[in-house]
Amino acid sequence: MDMNQRIKDIAGTWGADFLGVADLSPAHDAILAQGGPVVAAYPRAISVGIVLLHTIVDQLPHSADRAVAVNYKHHGYDVINQRLDLFVSRVSSLLQREGYQALPVPASKRVDDERICAMFSHKLAARLAGLGWIGKSCLLVTPKEGPRVRWATVLTDAPLPVTGKPMEERCGSCNQCVEICPVNAFTGEAFMSSDPREKRFNAGKCDRYFASMKKKDPELAVCGLCLYVCPYGQHRNPAQTGL
Ligand code: SF4
Ligand code: SF4
Repeated sequence: MDMNQRIKDIAGTWGADFLGVADLSPAHDAILAQGGPVVAAYPRAISVGIVLLHTIVDQLPHSADRAVAVNYKHHGYDVINQRLDLFVSRVSSLLQREGYQALPVPASKRVDDERICAMFSHKLAARLAGLGWIGKSCLLVTPKEGPRVRWATVLTDAPLPVTGKPMEERCGSCNQCVEICPVNAFTGEAFMSSDPREKRFNAGKCDRYFASMKKKDPELAVCGLCLYVCPYGQHRNPAQTGL
């Protein structure tokens, strides 16, 4: 069985909804700046995504309700992150057994508190694999599920075929994520790969908002309104939303 099929089979085991392979060379400098030379040495990324349960995401405007917040943190976050982490762990082991280098990137682990970022951007890999675009919310937006997807990545030197090329952004005149954010963390600027994240998103505002919620009650520290509101994830026809 070829390597691609074996990776697809593992993706099926963990119920992955998105799977793609990205050529990382166009983003080498940004990857180097974020994660350093060890991370930037990999030419390819395997991007995997799992769609969040709409029944849980649709409740996010009511996250002051403890049951809503607890279920989002558990099934919208911890459980899906575990499934993604198990996928990247198994695929990395497979690639290593076949003689390749493979570095699993955790689904959701910040490594730099000052810059508020992980060692590598899953959104970047998914975008380069042709799975979606970066929205005004700075989230990866997929055409069918919007931003309601969690992601993880395997960095590798295995010569896997690249699955796609970056999608044109389709936010158009929509501004819903910008308007709903309770701390005005977004500027409303459309994504440009040459721009720094700061041009679109003040991550510190979102981070401080979560810190203040955690101080009051860690169980209720939930927002996700930018993810909830995106019309591409709401299973309505985007044409009906004025996009
Ligand atoms: S999670 Fe909430 S506070 Fe953070 S950027 Fe999204 S809408 Fe704003
Ligand atoms: S809510 Fe609108 S502007 Fe924001 S990411 Fe989705 S389509 Fe783009």
